[in-house]
Amino acid sequence: MSKINQTNLRIPGPTPVTPEILKEMSRSMINHRGDEFRDLIESATRRLKKIYETDEDLHILTASGTGAMEAAIVNTLSPGDRVLAITIGAFGDRFANIAEIYGASVTVLRSELGQAADPDKVTSCLNNDPDIKAVLVTHNETSTGVTNDLESISKIVKNDFGKLLLVDGVSSVGSVPLKTDSWKCDAVASASQKGWMAPPGLAFLSFSLESWKANAYSTMPRFYFDLREYKKYMEIGQPPWTPNLSLFFALDKALDLMLEEGIANIHSRHAKTAQQFRDGVEDLGLKLLAKPDCASDTITSVLLPDGIAAKDFLSVARLEHNVELAGGQQSLASKIFRIGHLGLVTDDEISQTLHAIKHSLQKLR
Ligand code: PMP
Repeated sequence: MSKINQTNLRIPGPTPVTPEILKEMSRSMINHRGDEFRDLIESATRRLKKIYETDEDLHILTASGTGAMEAAIVNTLSPGDRVLAITIGAFGDRFANIAEIYGASVTVLRSELGQAADPDKVTSCLNNDPDIKAVLVTHNETSTGVTNDLESISKIVKNDFGKLLLVDGVSSVGSVPLKTDSWKCDAVASASQKGWMAPPGLAFLSFSLESWKANAYSTMPRFYFDLREYKKYMEIGQPPWTPNLSLFFALDKALDLMLEEGIANIHSRHAKTAQQFRDGVEDLGLKLLAKPDCASDTITSVLLPDGIAAKDFLSVARLEHNVELAGGQQSLASKIFRIGHLGLVTDDEISQTLHAIKHSLQKLR
């Protein structure tokens, strides 16, 4: 796979897209209600399910990841439903907000920023409120670079309590292991601009049989994201609404490349790249926000040394070294910077990024 020589985009999505994938975006439009698109949507769905490790339903939405998170909620819940939202950062808060805006009664279980959720606390929350119907959780919290122990959380939520488990897997599926069916995740959201190596604009949502059972009683308002429409239309190999065809062409190519590489190889490549970044940053004397046992293999959050302004650091890295890093979000805005390393990352990009970090800090000290 070759890459264009451009800015080293080290943000947690959109990720760099290779020329062969970008080229697909210039293909001519086709009839989205015709045979060619039917083959494409069926094959893309089948390959996404393979990577999601699910035999249950999966739908492709023309939306960003937030759309898939919203779809998970509005298709399973009703106003007034009690929901436990496990949040370890900005995206966990967003998931909780969506549920609240649609009228769910949300209890939030919050961890300190930089830490993963404590599974014992999930047990306590579910013991304290037997009426909770669903649990929302972020698998990989992009704002802090922390991965939750989803497998342990799922054992509690599903095996011990039998609740619905709705997962934000936006920055994890396709990059790090997430076994949708064996971890009994009822809905898992992701988005094309993350580890999928495609441009932003398509979102994916797996939807289990349990979710469909909940759907039968769910009364939250929905139209564009009504999964019953997606399911009905998928029987004839169509989406209910006009899809972003150019992105489907790109996704088609990206999925080919992913399956050619192999899912296990993709996971181990992400683990290795992440370790190279963590080691490299620590060798520069910098401290990581996430503890080693929960540090993400797709995003690394680094504490900014005292006296260095995030804005200045990011602009020196960009203007003088051609490396685009991400700042922190919300209360972490002045405290950290983040390195995105999902999708394809070359050794040269790793060295260039570490070089940029070192020299940008030296200049500002
Ligand atoms: N959840 C997580 C964990 C994310 O990383 C993101 C995107 N940064 C989102 C949700 C929201 O996705 P989008 O911006 O595609 O709507």
